[in-house]
Amino acid sequence: MEENDIINISEIFGKDVFNDNVMQERLPKKVYRELRKTIDEGKSLDPITAEVVANAMKDWAIEKGATHYTHWFQPLTGITAEKHDSFISPAGKGGGAIVEFSGKELIKSEPDASSFPSGGIRSTFEARGYTAWDCTSPAFVRHDAAGAILCIPTAFCSYTGESLDMKTPLLRSIEALNTQALRLIRLFGNTTSKKVIPSVGAEQEYFLVDREKFLKRKDLIYTGHTLFGAMPPKGQELDDQYFGAIRERVASFMKDINRELWRLGVSAKTQHNEAAPGQHELAPIFCDCNVAVDHNQLIMEVMKKVAERQGMMCLLHEKPFAGVNGSGKHDNWSLVTDDGINLFDPGKTPHDNVQFLLILTCILKAVDEHSDLLRESAATVGNDYRLGANEAPPAIMSVFLGEQLQDVISQLISTGMATSSIKGEKLETGVRTLPRFTKDATDRNRTSPFAFTGNKFEFRMVGSSASIAEPNIVLNSIAAEAFADACDFIENSENFDIAVHDLIKKYATEHERIIFNGNGYAPEWVEEAESRGLKNLKSMLDAIPALSDEKSVRLFSRFGIFTQAELESREEIKYEEYAKEINIEARTMIDMATKSIIPACLRYVKDLSDTVISVKNAGYGSRAAAENLRRVTALTDEAYSALEKLIADDEKALSIPEGRERAVFCRDVVKKDMENLRTPVDRLEMLVGKDYWPMPSYGDLLFEV
Ligand code: ADP
Ligand code: MG
Repeated sequence: MEENDIINISEIFGKDVFNDNVMQERLPKKVYRELRKTIDEGKSLDPITAEVVANAMKDWAIEKGATHYTHWFQPLTGITAEKHDSFISPAGKGGGAIVEFSGKELIKSEPDASSFPSGGIRSTFEARGYTAWDCTSPAFVRHDAAGAILCIPTAFCSYTGESLDMKTPLLRSIEALNTQALRLIRLFGNTTSKKVIPSVGAEQEYFLVDREKFLKRKDLIYTGHTLFGAMPPKGQELDDQYFGAIRERVASFMKDINRELWRLGVSAKTQHNEAAPGQHELAPIFCDCNVAVDHNQLIMEVMKKVAERQGMMCLLHEKPFAGVNGSGKHDNWSLVTDDGINLFDPGKTPHDNVQFLLILTCILKAVDEHSDLLRESAATVGNDYRLGANEAPPAIMSVFLGEQLQDVISQLISTGMATSSIKGEKLETGVRTLPRFTKDATDRNRTSPFAFTGNKFEFRMVGSSASIAEPNIVLNSIAAEAFADACDFIENSENFDIAVHDLIKKYATEHERIIFNGNGYAPEWVEEAESRGLKNLKSMLDAIPALSDEKSVRLFSRFGIFTQAELESREEIKYEEYAKEINIEARTMIDMATKSIIPACLRYVKDLSDTVISVKNAGYGSRAAAENLRRVTALTDEAYSALEKLIADDEKALSIPEGRERAVFCRDVVKKDMENLRTPVDRLEMLVGKDYWPMPSYGDLLFEV
C-alpha cells in the first residue's frame, strides 16, 4: 500500500461539512448561539443571523474550491434534485466579478416546481415552489467532475404551503414524535431530557457489475434491473473461491467509498455481504433521523459515482436479477433522548422496566393498527419484484420480539403481571480453550420485516433504491399517535401505576397477533397470518390506498404531518409512477426482443437449418442440429407471439386515463405479458449458441465483476 493510500479517518472525517466545529470556529459567538437555538429548539431564524451565517458559509465553501451553490432537495421522485447558482455576479462597469451569497439566498430559493411531481396539487400555471433551508442537516461541499459545489439541504414546498417533498413531512413527524415521547417520559418522572430524537442507521445493500457488460444490456441501462436472463448453473450457493477474483476490485471500491463518505461526514463501515454473488452492504453509524435520510441519499449518489469511476456500475434496484437474492435497506430505528437515553433499551430485566414495556406495547399497537401504512411506505415498483420472493421478507407485516421479550409479553397476557426475565445462558462451544461468554438472551431472526434487535427496531421491508424518508415518516407518526393515546389515558386516570399496568396488558393482549417469531419466509406463515387477520398486500397497488384512508388521514392530520390533499396527491403520484415504470420496462423488453433477441435467434435458426441441409447433402443426418432447430424455432415463435401481445397491451395501457386504472391494467395485463415474453426468451438463452446471444448473461454479470 502506498503512503498516500493510507486514510487517516480523524483527519478527513467531516472535512467537507459545515458542521458544528466549523460553525463555532467561524461564527461570532452570539450568531452561533442563535443558530444553535434554531437547530436545537426550533426557534425561528432572524434575517440578520441568516446573513452572517450565509457569509461564513460562502467563505468556507470558496476556500474549499466551490464556485457554485445549490439548494439540495428531495422532490417526490425518490431521489434528490438541485438548482445550481453561481456565487459570482458581474461587478458592474469595471468588469471583473464579485462573490455574492446573501442570507436570503441561503434561506430561500425558487426552483420551477412544474418540473417535479405534485399529484395535481398545483397546476402548471401555478408553478411556484420554494426551497427552504433545513439548518438541522448540515451543508456540505461536494466535489465531482464539474468542480466543487456548496450543497444546502432544503425542504421543498408549493406556493400555497403544501409539501412537495419528503423532508417537510419528515421534519413534521420528527417534531410530533418528540412532543409525544417527551410527554410520555415526563409522566414517568423524567424531568431532565429536553428532546427525544428518532435515530436511524440504514444499511444499504447493492450489487456491483462491470461497466462494459452493463452497457451491453438495455434493460440495465433503462430500468436498473434485468428483464431477461436465465439463472447461471451455479446460483447463490457459491463457495468463497468465486469471490476471490473480484475481491481486489471491490475492496478498492470500498476504500474509495469510505474516503468520500467520511469527508462528507457520513460514518460508513462497508462490509461484504455474501448472500448473493456480486452483492454487498454498507452500514453507516446511526444518527438523527433527518440527517440519516440525507446521508442515505448521499451514500447512494456516491456509490454510483465511485463505481463508475472504477469501471463498474452500482445497481441499487431491489431485484437486479430474477431468482437471485434482492437488495433491501434495513432501516434501524430507535428513540434516543438528547442526554443519551435509548427509550428502546430494555435493560437486563425488561419485566420490571415499566416504561420500556409501555413503549414496547405502544409500538406493537402502532404497527398492528397501521401495518398497511407501514407496508405502503416500503412499496415501490422495484420492491414488488423483491418482497415475498427469494430470501426477502414477505409482504405481510409482523414484529419479531425474540425469546426474552416474547416471554415477558406472554406473562403479561396470561397473568397481567411479568415477574421474571429469561437470562442469556453461557455459550457452550465444547472447546475448553475458547472463552465462555454469555449469549444474548435473544437470537437473531433475519426473516422478519420488523425485528426488535436489542435496543432498536429493524424495518427490513424497505427497498434498496428508495428514499428512507417515507418509512421513517410513518414510523415516527404512528409512534407519536400511540404515545399520545397512552398519555391521554394515563393523564386522565387517578392512579398512575394502575393506569400504566392496565394499558400495557390491554395493548399486549389486543395486538399480540402482530408478533411472529418464526420463519417469515416459510409458506405456512402466509396461511397463519391470514388466520390471524393480518393483511398480505402483495403489490404496491394493493398498498397505496392505505395512504389516504380514514385512519391515515386522522393520524396525519392530528399531528399536522400531511393534509388530506397532500395524501391524495401522493397517491396520485404513485399510481402515475407505477404505470410509467412498467411502461418503460415493457418498452425496453419490446426493444430488446425486436431488435436483438429475436434476430439473434433467427440467425441461429438459419445456421442450424444450413447445417441440417449440408449434413443431409453429405448423406448424414444430425440429430443435434435438427432437434435444436425444432426447439429454437418453436420457442422463437412463442416469444414472437408474446411480443406482439405485449406491444398491443402496452399501447392499450396508454389509452387508459392516467391514475389507478392505468396502473392496475399495467400490473394485471402488461406485467403478465412481460412474464410471458420472458419465459421463452430465457429458455432460448439456454439453447442458442453463446456467440449468438446478444448480451452478457447472468453468469457474466455476477461472477466476472
Ligand atoms: P447488527 O448487529 O444488526 O449488525 P450493527 O451494530 O452492525 O448491528 O448495526 C446495524 C445498523 O444499525 C448500523 O447502521 C447501526 O448504526 C444501526 N444502529 C445501531 N444501533 C442503533 C440505534 N440505537 N438506533 C438506530 N440505529 C442503530
Ligand atoms: Mg441488518
